[in-house]
Amino acid sequence: MDHSDIVIVGAGHAGAQAAVALRQAKFEGSITMLGDETFPPYERPPLSKEYLAGDKPFERILLRPEAFWAGKDIDLRLGARVVSVDPGAHTVTLEDGIQHGYGQLIWATGGSPRQLSCPGADADEGLYVVRNRADVDALQANLPEIETVLIVGGGYIGLEAAAVLRKLGKKVILLEAMERVLARVAGADISRFYEAYHRSKGVDLRTNTALEGIMVDNGKAVGVRMADGSTISADAVIVGIGIIPAVEPLLNAGAAGGNGVDVDSQCRTTLPDVFAIGDCAAHENKFAGGARIRLESVQNANDQATMVAKIIAGQDLVYDAVPWFWSDQFDLKLQTVGLSTGYDDTVLRGDPDSGSFTVVYLKNGIVAALDCVNSMKDYVQGRKLVAAAISVPVDALADSETPLKSLL
Ligand code: FAD
Repeated sequence: MDHSDIVIVGAGHAGAQAAVALRQAKFEGSITMLGDETFPPYERPPLSKEYLAGDKPFERILLRPEAFWAGKDIDLRLGARVVSVDPGAHTVTLEDGIQHGYGQLIWATGGSPRQLSCPGADADEGLYVVRNRADVDALQANLPEIETVLIVGGGYIGLEAAAVLRKLGKKVILLEAMERVLARVAGADISRFYEAYHRSKGVDLRTNTALEGIMVDNGKAVGVRMADGSTISADAVIVGIGIIPAVEPLLNAGAAGGNGVDVDSQCRTTLPDVFAIGDCAAHENKFAGGARIRLESVQNANDQATMVAKIIAGQDLVYDAVPWFWSDQFDLKLQTVGLSTGYDDTVLRGDPDSGSFTVVYLKNGIVAALDCVNSMKDYVQGRKLVAAAISVPVDALADSETPLKSLL
């Protein structure tokens, strides 16, 4: 049986960064990274942006050149899916039965797309998700035959895909079940702005929708049936309704968790010598008032990975990085810093009609988060306000002529 000092499960953003950061921290032990995809680690955000648009080839979204891993003596094994963990024996078992021993294990498996549970959701063709390269390649291969796309879910991924597909000349219908898009992650001002913008670009965006089932013809999804009995035909249905963290093997092994695997402030799970990082790690976050949350962002994946690598290399750290996120839709760059969940007031800076503005979210008078639309300066300066967690006069925040840095 092979054995490595460090085994990393998952070769996505968090796993790859953990391996890189271990070597940067001068960790000299053996590192094996087991990833179930067949491609070397690549950036995921372009999948619903430039890669889907055909503007960036795969080689340009690789996290590191292919030769990098061997060059750093990182044993990257692809097509290697871990199905179980034995925390006592310190081993993982792969799908093909092969076992691999570890000194310390870093679990960095992200999540898999949540599936619809309605009739027709098991159609063999015509149904797509956008989580990994293979998903997007499958969609792209069929794009020439696709005229009308129906997107289920008005979160970031659904909206980004809608923007790209519109630009590619497709007819796009987007269905959101809630009263507004981005309802889980942004305030109403942002939702309304994005809804209006998408509609102005020709997206048929509908909120408050109740999907009843997928229409299937000869095994192929050909549209959807709504609860009111109406139907919408489409050549492709993209489902973007969130992810389910890929933590079953860890939970089966006895790790605490549920929606993800629970980790402490150092990203340690309740299993000995097992860390978890990235989308799958449910951690207590001080920017969420100490609530246990999972963050699905490149920032969180990279920062948790880097911290764990440094801990393994001997440093004593706790996770307290400021959360940030971005989303590109049409010519709009949204940059978010902090966490707006639980906000009790918002302040608008600038005029949404100008296409550049910021929404500041307050909790008990403290600046908790900012959503900056084409507003780089506010994003950069607002970070410091969020990090400082200070109370700022609302009048000053609302005055877009007042630089945020002057309020520190
Ligand atoms: P992942 O990057 O998903 O990597 C996990 C890897 O583990 C995957 O390769 C998976 O196949 C593999 N794996 C799973 N189970 C196993 C197993 N049992 N054995 C072996 N391997 C396994 N974030 C932003 O901040 N900004 C954005 O604009 C943005 N856009 C996005 C667009 C898309 C289309 C997607 C899907 C995500 C986007 N995100 C964005 C989120 C960001 O990409 C994720 O938060 C980030 O990839 C999380 O990193 P991770 O390593 O935790 O998971």
